Amino acid sequence: KVRVRFAPSPTGPLHLGGVRTALYDYLFAKNQGGEFVLRIEDTDTARYVEGAEDYIEEALEWCGIIADESPKKGGKFAPYRQSERREIYDRYTEQILKTNYAYIAFDTAEELDAIRGEFEAKGDVFSYDNKTRNRLRNSLALSEEEVQKLLDEKTPYVVRFKMPIDRTLNLVDIIRGNSSVNTNTLDDKVLVKNDGMPTYHFANIIDDHEMEISHVIRGEEWLPSLGLHTLLYEAMGWEAPQFAHLSLILKPEGKGKLSKRDGDKFGFPVFPLNFTDPATGNISKGYRESGYLPEAFINMVALLGWSPADDKEILSLDEMAKEFDLNKVHKAGARFSKEKSEWFNHQYIQLKSDEELLQILKGSDLSLNIEDEKLLKIIHLMKERATFPKDIYENGKFFFEAPASYDEKASKKAWNEETSAILGELASNLEGAEFNAENLKQVVHDFAENKGLGMGKVMMPLRLALVGELKGPDVPDILELIGKEESISRINNAIN
Ligand code: GLU
Repeated sequence: KVRVRFAPSPTGPLHLGGVRTALYDYLFAKNQGGEFVLRIEDTDTARYVEGAEDYIEEALEWCGIIADESPKKGGKFAPYRQSERREIYDRYTEQILKTNYAYIAFDTAEELDAIRGEFEAKGDVFSYDNKTRNRLRNSLALSEEEVQKLLDEKTPYVVRFKMPIDRTLNLVDIIRGNSSVNTNTLDDKVLVKNDGMPTYHFANIIDDHEMEISHVIRGEEWLPSLGLHTLLYEAMGWEAPQFAHLSLILKPEGKGKLSKRDGDKFGFPVFPLNFTDPATGNISKGYRESGYLPEAFINMVALLGWSPADDKEILSLDEMAKEFDLNKVHKAGARFSKEKSEWFNHQYIQLKSDEELLQILKGSDLSLNIEDEKLLKIIHLMKERATFPKDIYENGKFFFEAPASYDEKASKKAWNEETSAILGELASNLEGAEFNAENLKQVVHDFAENKGLGMGKVMMPLRLALVGELKGPDVPDILELIGKEESISRINNAIN
């Protein structure tokens, strides 16, 4: 049975890379008829950030990435928060010590610093490994009595993995293929800290085993840990899951990992939701608050590193799940593009009905004092050019208020000494006209014809009077929507 997990640490907001990992987990699970688990890896209390767990859950929910098992939802392998699984880890700590795959080490931070200093003085780099472990204060180097004495004195200790000597490990990754590593290049990693809590490595493999995880999908920054994890599974006598390490999401220029700073520099969010840093009060901008539709956002994220067979670009979450294939995830990094993310949003706005967009606009913080019926018409006319829902309002401001000034260049083009007289006359024709777009088009047309003027000579200044610039949808549509009284008043303002 396919079971995957997304295992974030609550150390801050989820970034794009995290969302993508969660999304691929979800898509793979759904594609395989499997289960998707959310597990919170909070054993590192020093890096814990208040509110981060809630943020992660809310963000995934906004994206539509719903876990089958999670801290809030529960499930048959609960609890799903590592800080609540201490007893389980204690049990396995005992096991790995008893079977001699790990040992206890009493070295204090000061002692380790001193040794590190000695190495550095000789131009070497210190590593706690099979070449140095015999000189240090641990249960491999000390006599049984010495160890017992230290334990009796309640000397703090950590548990370290006893890295085997000179073994070549074959590592298999679904995306990266095969690679190998020699254990002489790896150190004796701490598995349990001196507060009794396991480190990421140990808690992670215990939980993946206990929770019956079949596939581990995670960022490539964990690839260097794969050797250790493989050996840990072996030491515990467990079958390892399959691994898939995802490549980086790259900066818009293509080189290096996308960072929060790139977002600030180029003006795009790197987090799904706004996040207020509890330490500094700084707010990082999110996709949700920036006007992205969740469907557009996850569609964009999914294609950062994967493409469906026919290179289709617009896919719903269900369609993506149907087509998702881990074997088709790209080995190379995926370059982020602000323009592409905006393009996705624009596409998804076109797919929304006018009614849906009305609800979105009414749910936003724009003050729209206009009846729904009119707003629907404005939406219909303006959505074609909108990247964000608010563009409908901002590009269509003239529907809501008269122009305060007239664009200078447009005035030069549209206006001459006869224009005031022409528009004045047109205004009185409009007085008696029925105000629907079709009829208004006819009225303006007839007026121009009678005067022996080209349509442009009338339409352009009329547009300028109504909008303030030479932009917007068809003039008769604008006339109908702003209504007779307002239209005539705007013409009068312009000609006086
Ligand atoms: N807690 C780790 C992280 O925050 C999880 C890595 C993994 O998926 O194994 O990235």
